[in-house]
Amino acid sequence: MAERGLTLMAVHAHPDDEATSTGGVLARYAAEGITTVLVTCTDGGCGDGPGGVKPGDPGHDPAAVVAMRQAELEASCAALKVSHLETLGYADSGMMGWSTNDLPGAFWNTPVTEAAQRLAELIRRYRPDVVVTYDENGFYGHPDHIQAHRITMAAVEMTDVPAKVYWTTVPHTAFAEFGRVMKELGVEWAEPEETPGADGPGPQLGLPDDEITTWVDTSSYGAQKFDALAAHASQTENIFFLRMGRDRFVELMGRETFVRVRDTTGAALPEDDLFAGLR
Ligand SMILES: [Zn+2]
Repeated sequence: MAERGLTLMAVHAHPDDEATSTGGVLARYAAEGITTVLVTCTDGGCGDGPGGVKPGDPGHDPAAVVAMRQAELEASCAALKVSHLETLGYADSGMMGWSTNDLPGAFWNTPVTEAAQRLAELIRRYRPDVVVTYDENGFYGHPDHIQAHRITMAAVEMTDVPAKVYWTTVPHTAFAEFGRVMKELGVEWAEPEETPGADGPGPQLGLPDDEITTWVDTSSYGAQKFDALAAHASQTENIFFLRMGRDRFVELMGRETFVRVRDTTGAALPEDDLFAGLR
């Protein structure tokens, strides 16, 4: 068999998702010499506009938002030393129930098989050993995140290429710790316990700690993750994180966690490396 380096592919919905949920692993594995491929499915056109203009408000120009967010995405990839950035270019569908969900070209409005075939082409080209995306609820229910999950799982099925597939998640204990720090900083923050939980009407965010299979130490790459997030400072939800300041952020965000849903290596669980069993 020809000598070939390892490859990580992360499939995300919007510009900035790569930084929030996988910034640490993208930076860490790039530093270890692994090829990193980021696939961003939508153009982020439903995000905040220049000057913080909200979608639907007067002066929100989706074309300007898309151009700004593409530049931010490239800056984030530079901070994380991503080897290859691929964009599928679907229109941002906006939050669940927005009229943008049904527009032609919206990611949510695109047949899963059609988008999955495009992703499958990229999987055949880059041959990732490890693929990372969201869980079936897109972590928090955003239609583009759910769609990214669906097309990724379909493309994996079509290609049978990756040895391992992971969904991003957050341990419940980390939410508690995060809530404590937010309160300390005076930031309003609804703890998962106070929001509709597993027994209530909505799905609970994240997982109990003992259901998490993979805990990756990214503490040495926290500064890069912070810089990637800072590259997306036009988006209000990121300013929320940036308010912590770099030192606190690095201290609090030194780990990224995943659930392994496909594995051909037999690596024992729990594991501390997405590439366990592959090197
Ligand atoms: Zn997103």
